[in-house]
Amino acid sequence: MQRGAERGRHAGEIELKKLGHLLHAYVPAIGGRIPAPRYLEVEAGPTLGSESCGRCGATGELGEVSVRNLDKGRAVQLPFIAVHALASHGERFYEGSTSGIGAIDVDALKDVLNYEEYRIGRLLTALLAHTALVPDHLAIAEEMAVGVVSCGECGDPVRLGSFTVRNCYSGASTSIPYLGLHALVEHKDARFSALAVDGGVSEGGVAMRLVREILGRSPAYQALGARIAGFVSARGFGGAEPCPQHLVVREHPAGEEVCAACGEVLDGGTFELRNIHTGHEMHLPYLALHALMSHGEAFYEGGRGRGWVDVPVLQRLTKRTWPMVQRLHSG
Ligand SMILES: [Zn+2]
Ligand SMILES: [Zn+2]
Ligand SMILES: [Zn+2]
Repeated sequence: MQRGAERGRHAGEIELKKLGHLLHAYVPAIGGRIPAPRYLEVEAGPTLGSESCGRCGATGELGEVSVRNLDKGRAVQLPFIAVHALASHGERFYEGSTSGIGAIDVDALKDVLNYEEYRIGRLLTALLAHTALVPDHLAIAEEMAVGVVSCGECGDPVRLGSFTVRNCYSGASTSIPYLGLHALVEHKDARFSALAVDGGVSEGGVAMRLVREILGRSPAYQALGARIAGFVSARGFGGAEPCPQHLVVREHPAGEEVCAACGEVLDGGTFELRNIHTGHEMHLPYLALHALMSHGEAFYEGGRGRGWVDVPVLQRLTKRTWPMVQRLHSG
């Protein structure tokens, strides 16, 4: 692609690819194999033939899918080619030979698919699997128990017991049963239920707000935010530092936004970061950068809504990767 050739590799947004794969898995009409969880209604319209992608030429089914989150009463409707644009290209715009060019409401789709539950589940799983990688601000302790319990959603056996995750700076902590983690990862659901041998069902829930506060607050995030703010020039940020050579920043200032945490008035727009060696991108509101830099918080909230920075993805993106290694990998 022209833009990629001019300015290094182009691999799209990692988050959007994950989101696209999540949605794709729920749509049998385009090859999905996962039954929709209890809170999701997925309806695919009739297949109307085929169309091709303007980016890569791949041909797929022509049609639309509508997903409704019953807990949130929110729905999103997209052409199949949009699922392809997300999953294959990590792009917010689709280009179909029949559907034309259109924008994908990424924030709405994340909300509908419970993307946050899914990512937090994956983060917790990674922390439990690689205790050596637990960041400085967190401590994790497992409370094993003997036996298994059956998940009320899928029937799978899940081990009993729980683990506690604690923020070493704020002292906040919470205990999560393994069944709760299973529900987050497998069903993208903060609610979980267990089938008892007598046929009864017991229910529980992961305290998402608390988990968010525990995982998402670290002095290291302040340093990361301050470093990025140095080469972002919108109002309220540094802009005095030269952008590292392996990164490209594109800014889209727009109106105003007020931080719900501190009341500071910021630019209401967004900015994009791209690593020219890996081609990966991230698109964030300025408010997200402010939350990292000023509050050491991965979660942000303002008048236009709230969201969450996937810090591990951002760290990987801003890290310098050696072009030599890249060349070896790409053959
Ligand atoms: Zn394509
Ligand atoms: Zn399950
Ligand atoms: Zn603030």
